[in-house]
Amino acid sequence: MQSASSETGTIVTGSSPPTSGPYVGRFAPSPTCPLHFGSLIAAVASFLEARTRGGRWLLRIEDIDPPREQTGATQIILQAMESYGFEWDGPVIYQSNSRSSHDAALATLLAAGSAYRCGCSRRNLGPVYPGTCREGTQAAETALRVLTNSEEVSFVDELQGQQAQRLETEFGDFVVLRKDGLIAYQLAVVVDDHLQGITDVVRGIDLMDSTPRQIWLQQLLGYPTPKYVHIPVATNALEQKLSKNHGAGGIPLADVTSTLHSALATLGQRPPSELANVSVAEIWAWAIENWNIAVLSGQTQIPVAEKLYRLSKTELNKNP
Ligand SMILES: [Zn+2]
Repeated sequence: MQSASSETGTIVTGSSPPTSGPYVGRFAPSPTCPLHFGSLIAAVASFLEARTRGGRWLLRIEDIDPPREQTGATQIILQAMESYGFEWDGPVIYQSNSRSSHDAALATLLAAGSAYRCGCSRRNLGPVYPGTCREGTQAAETALRVLTNSEEVSFVDELQGQQAQRLETEFGDFVVLRKDGLIAYQLAVVVDDHLQGITDVVRGIDLMDSTPRQIWLQQLLGYPTPKYVHIPVATNALEQKLSKNHGAGGIPLADVTSTLHSALATLGQRPPSELANVSVAEIWAWAIENWNIAVLSGQTQIPVAEKLYRLSKTELNKNP
């Protein structure tokens, strides 16, 4: 086991506990933009890892931040997932349907004295919250923050090795319920992963920074900690993570096999060149047969060619 209690809270050391029972993985896009090549490689890695371990693989749409969402993005994402031949187990899960579970988790944290109301304005705060409202606030509008401490929260990532953060000094007490009433990402992910029995999280390394906060919440809520595997992110020529803001457009629906071929090559899988012209089912069969995530060990970035992520002409017209 990995945890031990002290007066200052729970210390997490060593690796995640071995998960018992069958593997359950997931892919969890936010409907803020269509799937671009960077999201595709995360989906491919997560899917292949689940399939090659005989596991289940769930698809969860993280639709709890309406101000950031793009109308129609969910349908565009689902259409792309289908065109690319992804097969998820069970119905598509919408995170917005879990609000009552999110609220119950917040109530648990409050009842345990692990969360408190914060009336600070984000404008007046630096990157690390200094704990201003730990002793109370008179503000009418408040967020909820979770208490952190100075102990190290650590985990062993299968590709990136030992990771550790001291939350109190690196982030401070962090928000779990926003002032606008929306559930914060960190809490929603933790509650949903638990609800859905996720045992293994495979995702981009850009989210590795969040993992200690998520482990901290799992400890406070009495949840088991999944295993984490953070894969390198695809980057453009300027070494920026592919994103809508850095000019990444949706993956093409007309060119599925060759795009999947490029995704596998980007993930270090060396698919034979003749596979770029086979059926979607055939390229997946090869990928499942040959998948080896270990080739990505220690890698944090993979530069990709512009033709794999540039905005299509129609998207360029919409986003001048
Ligand atoms: Zn405050």
